Amino acid sequence: MSIRVRYAPSPTGLQHIGGLRTALFNYLLARSSGGTFVLRIEDTDRERFDERSLQDIYDTFQWFGIRWDEGPDVGGPFAPYIQSERVSMYREYARQLVESGYAYEAFDDAEALRESREDGKQGYEPIFRGMSEAEKQKYRDRGVPPVIRFRTPDEGATEFEDLVLGRVKRKNRDIVTDPVLLKSDGFPTYHLAVVVDDHHMEISHVLRGQEWVPTTGLHVLLYKAFGWQAPAFCHLPMVLGKDGQKLSKRHGATSVIEFRNSGYLPEAVMNYLSRLGWSYDDSREFFGQADLESLFDVEKLSKSPAVFDYRKLDWFNGSYIREKSEDELYDLVLPFLVRDGLVSDPPDDAQASTIRAAIPLIRERLRLLSDASGLLRFLLQDIREWTVDELVPKKTAVEDVPDYLARARELIQDADAVSDDVLEERFRAAAEALGIKLGNLLMPLRVAVTGSTASPPLFGAIRLLGVHRSLERVDACIALLRKEN
Ligand code: GLU
Repeated sequence: MSIRVRYAPSPTGLQHIGGLRTALFNYLLARSSGGTFVLRIEDTDRERFDERSLQDIYDTFQWFGIRWDEGPDVGGPFAPYIQSERVSMYREYARQLVESGYAYEAFDDAEALRESREDGKQGYEPIFRGMSEAEKQKYRDRGVPPVIRFRTPDEGATEFEDLVLGRVKRKNRDIVTDPVLLKSDGFPTYHLAVVVDDHHMEISHVLRGQEWVPTTGLHVLLYKAFGWQAPAFCHLPMVLGKDGQKLSKRHGATSVIEFRNSGYLPEAVMNYLSRLGWSYDDSREFFGQADLESLFDVEKLSKSPAVFDYRKLDWFNGSYIREKSEDELYDLVLPFLVRDGLVSDPPDDAQASTIRAAIPLIRERLRLLSDASGLLRFLLQDIREWTVDELVPKKTAVEDVPDYLARARELIQDADAVSDDVLEERFRAAAEALGIKLGNLLMPLRVAVTGSTASPPLFGAIRLLGVHRSLERVDACIALLRKEN
């Protein structure tokens, strides 16, 4: 049997990084097994539907670089792949369950719900379960729209085999009592739609987050009620923050768009996500898309939760950035420089050649593509203000700094004619003569030239800016500090 998997996002919010991992693992299973990856849009919750998040799904995968074989935009043998376009089918199946006795009509108006659960227990009191047709007719006459509810068995237990978790068993009375399958607006709930679609789309494996384990028992009951074979279930380990709580805004970025906007490379994100709950062996860390497409295997999925480590992701990102050619890096950082208002869109020739010349200097220092703005600002914009605190090294008197800058000024006059080593030697000797640490001579110069304590390598920065402009900045800082005194 050929493997068919699906990613089934609900367009009710921006794509979450955990959802992206689910999509990735589905995609990788399809690729590594010669199977089919399906995208299905689960938009039956009309109240929470959000058009922008539908677009966000497409944008996310366009950026991430994985494609589905069947889906709303590419079509396929089981179209339509958008649940709101399949509603008549769900209605038919809900009806079928009513006819076979597995489901029943309920008239859950506010009054009926208020009267329910007189025994004080939690949950839904299934008052319409055994109600006669004549009784129900009264509700119809009052114009109360019916919903269709599943009849959860009171006795027995339901079990399924999970490829990650092993055998999962649940007492039927612990499964939600008589959940709604078809709402009064005629739309299905997730439970009905997911079972009908996974069956009709011939999904062989359901890979999804472990938060869905509690509802899987209900789905298994639905498969039985329909007389269908359930797919294989494979619940992926949770993605947690460092504190062991579910990954959320408190930990950092969670939506994929935030990661994109801060300048993560899709291949770094893919490599990092592939390790969240899956490992090939104990030592290998780097996996390109092609490696993953051939090596991925559900056998190597872990049961225990994965911890999302932002610093590790940054480290991957920096590594992938350093693998880019200079031309590639130029194209990658440019949108960030445009966004941050540092260059025109498109950049003029002077800006373009300045950026190109600067790429070799900043590539080692980029953790995120967006770091380029901070590192290149000094080249692309005039510095109007310096922070005196930054110009003055720790434990140094303000009045001494103009002298250090004046000395540094002399040493960089011919910076474009000599090597870094020569300059460094000069600064070392000068610092010694002044009786100060090398850093205390270099830091004020760095802040004067680049406006920041974190800059690209200083001598390279001076050459890029030009000795003349660098000296002007040094002079401005000397004047500023003298005024401070
Ligand atoms: N639409 C569900 C979601 O938003 C899909 C869950 C599943 O994969 O069954 O995550």
